[in-house]
Amino acid sequence: MVVVGAGAAGLACAIFAARANPALRIVVLDGARKVGAKILVSGGGRCNVTNVRVTPADFYGGNPHVLRRVLAAFSEVQARRFFEEIGVPLHEEEYGKLFPDSNQARTVVDALLAECQRLHVDVRTQHRVTDVTPGAAARVEVPDAAGARGFTPAARPHAFRVIAESPEGCVAWQANNVVLATGGRSLPKTGSDGFGYELARRLGHDVTPTVPALDPLVLSGDAHAELSGVTHDVELTIHVAGARPVRIRGPMLWTHFGVSGPAALNASRLWNRAEQAGTPVRITINLLDGLDFAAAEHALIEACQAQPRAQVSSVLRRWLPASVAEAACRWSGLASQVLAGQLPREARRRLLHVLTEWPLPVVGTRGYRYAEVTSGGVPLHQIDPSTMASRMCPGLHLVGEILDVDGRLGGFNFQWAWSSGYVAGAALARWA
Ligand SMILES: Cc1cc2nc3c(=O)[nH]c(=O)nc-3n(C[C@H](O)[C@H](O)[C@H](O)COP(=O)(O)OP(=O)(O)OC[C@H]3O[C@@H](n4cnc5c(N)ncnc54)[C@H](O)[C@@H]3O)c2cc1C
Repeated sequence: MVVVGAGAAGLACAIFAARANPALRIVVLDGARKVGAKILVSGGGRCNVTNVRVTPADFYGGNPHVLRRVLAAFSEVQARRFFEEIGVPLHEEEYGKLFPDSNQARTVVDALLAECQRLHVDVRTQHRVTDVTPGAAARVEVPDAAGARGFTPAARPHAFRVIAESPEGCVAWQANNVVLATGGRSLPKTGSDGFGYELARRLGHDVTPTVPALDPLVLSGDAHAELSGVTHDVELTIHVAGARPVRIRGPMLWTHFGVSGPAALNASRLWNRAEQAGTPVRITINLLDGLDFAAAEHALIEACQAQPRAQVSSVLRRWLPASVAEAACRWSGLASQVLAGQLPREARRRLLHVLTEWPLPVVGTRGYRYAEVTSGGVPLHQIDPSTMASRMCPGLHLVGEILDVDGRLGGFNFQWAWSSGYVAGAALARWA
């Protein structure tokens, strides 16, 4: 079998297929010069391998029942055990994130490659696949047991022809099965440039239009620049016309271009999806981490009464970093020398509006070059979740980010890669 793409999902698929069936000849082709570039930069160079608790609610894109099935086949507990087995023990950090004890993503890549070597999986870099051509039987549609249109294993073609460009020129492989593990479009310099979608399309699949996700937000004006480098907890509310507002809480980092950090990254998918659909969208920020206007007013009045001779910005420091407290006063038009005991009602309410529902002047996101994942891709209903086999082209399997599944920040995207890779690998080992 040929696996196209030696990222997290492709390597997992190859390893689990080889473990279950050592006789299987497995070649993994990757266009990049080195394997695992995305794993190496993940989690700030430490690789957030998975999370202590992973559920379908942590993902967008696919049908939750399909997600549950794939995730249950190789859970976060199994992932943790697998990494321990290959010499990468994990430890838990805040929000349930699991990182290697070494705190180095390199350990994860090295361990996956060592396991491939131990299992005689042939991993070839600088082999960019340019075409995958199915055998004659590939276009024969037969109803499956449930009567749905699709392909049974018996209808698999005898051979795919896989063409790759390598430093030695054009190379061709014959394979009974091909796994597309080419990732999405995020961080294209790592090799995931979206060409996998074109391969999937040629093999009969649809591709849900993609947008960057887990992508920093770009703001207009320069209010944010003065806060560059400051991180604090916030609540962002994404208001998409015609939809219920979505609230996202967590740390947010102010930067020279806008905002980043978990809250902003998790919000970007919704912003990009709405923009792509041409639906009006706006984001408001609650600097007081979810305290609503009434509760914030009550708390501010009490705090001002307790410190009547302090400047208002000093009073706010019990909830906010000093620079954010000062900026909030300025944004609400409050003079810096105003004392807490002399804060007029109107000024207080203006300040509270800034603190609890300030419209973040979002003008876009930074795009695929900075996004951690891609939202959109091959729809899950075109895949059999018990095998990750294509329902459009027999013998083809799809795993990882090429599918229309994207997780929130916290190790969920890698878990999807491990789980979907496992399901495909185990199925291919059985069939072979
Ligand atoms: C900066 C950053 C940080 C991240 N941090 C985390 C984190 O800490 N935790 C987490 O869960 N997720 C994280 N992610 C997301 C995670 O890295 C991805 O979800 C995951 O790597 C997807 O795995 P994949 O194998 O499907 O795709 P990829 O990792 O993108 O691998 C695809 C592979 O296919 C190869 N390829 C593509 N096209 C071809 C072709 N035509 N021929 C041959 N080879 C090809 C590419 O070179 C690449 O090696 C992060 C992403 C980024 C960009």
